[in-house]
Amino acid sequence: MRKPVILLSLLLVAILAALSATGLLVQPSVSPAPAESGLFSEPRARERLAYILGEQRPHPADSANSDLVRARLIAQIQQIGLKPIVRDQLACNELYKQRGVSCARVRNVIAILGPPGGKAVLLNAHYDSTPVGPGAADDGIGVASLLEVGAILKDRPLRRPVILLFNEGEELGLIGARAFLADPLSRNVDSLLNLEARGVRGPVNMFETSRPNAAAIDLFARAVKNPIANSLSTDVYRLLPNYTDVNSFAERGWLTLNLAPIGNETRYHSPGDDVAALDPATLQHMGDQTLALAEALCNGTPKASGSERIFMDIAGRTLITLPLVVGAALLIGFLIAFAAISMRRGGLLRGAATVLGSIVGATILAWLLMALIGALRAGMFWRAQPIWTHLTVYAATVFVAVALLAVGGTLDRTRLRPAFWLAFLLVGGAIGLAAPGGIVFFLFPPLLAFLGMVASPRWKHAEQAASIAAILLLYLTWGAMLGLLEELLNGGPMWLFAPLGSLLIIPVLIETRPLIARTGLRGAAAAAGAMTLACSLAAAAAPAYSADRQQRFAIQHVSEPNAGMAWWSVVDDGALLPNSFAGHWERGDLPFSARLRWLAAAPLDPAAKAPTVQLLSQSRDGNARSLTLRLIANGNERIDLVAPVDADIRAAGTAGFVRSIDRSENGKYVVGCFGRSCDGLTLRLVIGQARPVRFLIVGSKAPLPPSAATLLAARPLHARPQYNRDESITFGRVVL
Ligand SMILES: [Zn+2]
Repeated sequence: MRKPVILLSLLLVAILAALSATGLLVQPSVSPAPAESGLFSEPRARERLAYILGEQRPHPADSANSDLVRARLIAQIQQIGLKPIVRDQLACNELYKQRGVSCARVRNVIAILGPPGGKAVLLNAHYDSTPVGPGAADDGIGVASLLEVGAILKDRPLRRPVILLFNEGEELGLIGARAFLADPLSRNVDSLLNLEARGVRGPVNMFETSRPNAAAIDLFARAVKNPIANSLSTDVYRLLPNYTDVNSFAERGWLTLNLAPIGNETRYHSPGDDVAALDPATLQHMGDQTLALAEALCNGTPKASGSERIFMDIAGRTLITLPLVVGAALLIGFLIAFAAISMRRGGLLRGAATVLGSIVGATILAWLLMALIGALRAGMFWRAQPIWTHLTVYAATVFVAVALLAVGGTLDRTRLRPAFWLAFLLVGGAIGLAAPGGIVFFLFPPLLAFLGMVASPRWKHAEQAASIAAILLLYLTWGAMLGLLEELLNGGPMWLFAPLGSLLIIPVLIETRPLIARTGLRGAAAAAGAMTLACSLAAAAAPAYSADRQQRFAIQHVSEPNAGMAWWSVVDDGALLPNSFAGHWERGDLPFSARLRWLAAAPLDPAAKAPTVQLLSQSRDGNARSLTLRLIANGNERIDLVAPVDADIRAAGTAGFVRSIDRSENGKYVVGCFGRSCDGLTLRLVIGQARPVRFLIVGSKAPLPPSAATLLAARPLHARPQYNRDESITFGRVVL
């Protein structure tokens, strides 16, 4: 091989190596505190968590396991010298980002520290888990952090009250938070720190604030020593279908900060969310931040200001913040500056076309590669070792960029650089239109590059030196963001990392433009192509699942006894079922859920009985009807009334908690109840139409019938339920 090809190959490998290491840029920099230091002690917090979770069983609200967890939680609160208060409420809450209402009997556990009067700081976590897993991170990390912070703060003079709220029913639809809002204690609150989890490891991100965010961000920047936060992810979070207790609390306008780790989502809402999987550094990071923020909030609520900040951390060491308007003005200023430089140097159109063409071309190639590997392997083939799939996408990005730069002929670096930053700023502006906080990533690297260009007449190396510095800064900031996004978007789409990675890859390749020119199109394409092929082969061959990162795989028995119908249902990631799953399996959905799943015929379970309702009374007001129903569980743990899209259900709930439904959302209506208290529950329903509504009434409970034994034994080794549990679902129909 010729020397330039070897050099270029080495360089491309180095680029991929750097891209594979972005996760390291967002490791929490924490050190364990010595015991009795007055600092947050992770081992002590973990010990309490292990005690509270006991056998580590799922403990959804109003279940027998939840009673056990609550009893141990209360014992721990007493043990640290605080007085637990238990509120027992039958409450309902509207579902967020979907049409529905969810009800349960919840028992919030509260402990109060500090002086009796004054505005209070609320520290909130939920002690219930989903019905699927033990919830050691979600939200054991919050429970453990609150206990340890409570133990530390109780010996300190506090200037205002701190309420520790261990709420129940978050997983069923933020019911504990809604119940707390009906509690007189909530009237004194003016600030909230919410602790959550969507993973078991990695840094704890500050991913949501009250809006406008200036007061919250200034406090966060001042208090937290090892911040992982940026205003792009807080904006992106709002666009995602996730929600936390903060959605319920938001109506009070409290100053709010929301914290959660997102590393390794494959264990989230699954039996894999256990104490052993919870990374000590993650718990320490959560604890350090909770303690620091609680102390800062105790010194008084920062003055609310009407302004918005954009912000980002630099490698978890410090938080850079500036007003959004300043950021927007800078972005526009840089756009004009780089457009002017580009025009003066010539090649504006060809340069911009090379950069934008590279971004678009990389996206198309990455999409094709993902579609190709996906056609060979159904399901989330990257789940166990996502690095190979990410590297495939990044290598494809390198391939397209190298090829275009090699073809780009006469364009030298002095023309390509301003063209790149111009395109970079255009992308930043486009992102800013959807997520204004995103522009924070598009200011400082171009600033450095611009300064270099301005200084180059005085020192001829200034431009190149500044360009390299800009790339390093880009790696520290945008690279770190890629590391976070790889965790956040672990379910795909994976091709998205092509345009995102382009922003980091293209400027590096521009700096190596002379080497690419010497290598020539053939050599450069061969080097980058070989790398793309190698990564693709690795992505296509790597095992899809591992003991740590298992396949999503829930087995359900579904039946409609009145119709004499029964199915086996497997809710997974779409991969093929193992051969040991005998029978005729087909992808399909069920009357009460549009989710695609594997279905096969099943024997009826004589013990399965659908829940029913009794209509107690009905009143009319114009076309609207107000119904009072009694739920009859027939042995089911969960009851859902599912109504068609056009049912026009306005509100639902129990006395004191009749909640209106957000009909601006799409889809079917779901009014549900979970737990032992659903049987006999009196439910109100407000329907906006006079004509009868055909409901499906769906019941579910944990044990599968004995006939499921063969399927349970045939479940693949590295597969476990996630989001959905193994359960028996029995449904009927009712017209109201
Ligand atoms: Zn949670």
